[in-house]
Amino acid sequence: MQDSFVYQMLPARVVFGRGTSATLPAEAERLGLRRLLVLSTPEQVVLAEQVRQLLGERAAGAFNDATMHTPVEVTAHALEVVKAERIDGVVAVGGGSTTGLGKAIALRTDLPQIVLPTTYAGSEMTPILGETQGGRKTTQRSPKIQPEVVIYDVDLTLSLPPAMSALSSFNALAHAVEALYAPDGNPIVSMMAEEGVRAIVGALPRVLKEPGDAQARASLLYGAWLCACCLGVTTMGLHHKLCHTLGGLFDLPHAETHAVMLPHALAYNAPMIPSAMARLCRAMGTDDAVGALLQLARDCDIPLALLDIGMPYEGIARTVDEALRNPYENPRPVEAGALAALLERAWAGMCD
Ligand code: NAD
Repeated sequence: MQDSFVYQMLPARVVFGRGTSATLPAEAERLGLRRLLVLSTPEQVVLAEQVRQLLGERAAGAFNDATMHTPVEVTAHALEVVKAERIDGVVAVGGGSTTGLGKAIALRTDLPQIVLPTTYAGSEMTPILGETQGGRKTTQRSPKIQPEVVIYDVDLTLSLPPAMSALSSFNALAHAVEALYAPDGNPIVSMMAEEGVRAIVGALPRVLKEPGDAQARASLLYGAWLCACCLGVTTMGLHHKLCHTLGGLFDLPHAETHAVMLPHALAYNAPMIPSAMARLCRAMGTDDAVGALLQLARDCDIPLALLDIGMPYEGIARTVDEALRNPYENPRPVEAGALAALLERAWAGMCD
């Protein structure tokens, strides 16, 4: 165990369980909110309308145009509604895209946020916001970005299709994996990461077999929550940085990129992180954590190659250049030849 460390707790209130959406009016009351704006993507308008109904007179408006990677133009439109309707708080119901919009509004207005997550991406537990402007994605941290209340309602995740559930789970696993070797890691985070991985790898196959299995969904959401906590309080390394670069350069889909890259990024770092590997092996019940992740991806029938999610082969050299231009902390030094080899393997989906 580390004998000295820093652990920064995040000031979020978490309500977890089945049917917990029903607590939304009471949570709004606790925060003293009277004029809430309900946020969603266009695909989740029906759910957003149910949330509006639940809020009754406290719902002062809806904005259903949340978009992946939080384009600043979309935020500007939402801010017009915030002003026109004298909004005093936001309710984000959806995945990371919707949560991102709520965070972008909060950053600019300091309005309180209540989030009802419907995926496993984990943005709700972090003070991190990624935004896009003119095709460039920038990321920042601020206490204003951290949502005040997160209502995890297992029932809201039952509709997440199996393939998206698997991809989103790999996104969650990636947070825990990188927290285990983060430069600002600590025993509390390692404990959450190990338990998060254990819960996810145990529950995901059950969810894929029976997407309506509420018990399995609860374990998966619990694991995703723990992984999200890890993301919120540590600095991510090679895996997250590469996913960010690949997403920005080639407009690759977020969760798919995480799913493809995770085993390869872990294999790259593995020789330098024996205690993280031991924890991962223990959590997954294996003596080969990289092999177990690859097997899980195969079992989930999700893409295994960057080639299959739209990355051009020529993009490998550009990604290496970009990674070397913006150096960051990572257990194994990020070196051009080894990084190109990692990307070649991920591009082709090589598994051995
Ligand atoms: P998403 O929010 O874009 O959701 C994907 C699609 O699935 C959307 O159309 C959505 O409406 C739909 N959907 C969501 N939940 C559903 C459900 N239960 N049933 C049916 N459909 C559902 O995807 P995501 O992977 O959750 O989030 C990705 C975004 O979040 C990216 O922009 C990423 O950068 C960001 N993110 C940010 C952080 C952070 O800490 N800042 C962490 C993770 C992800």
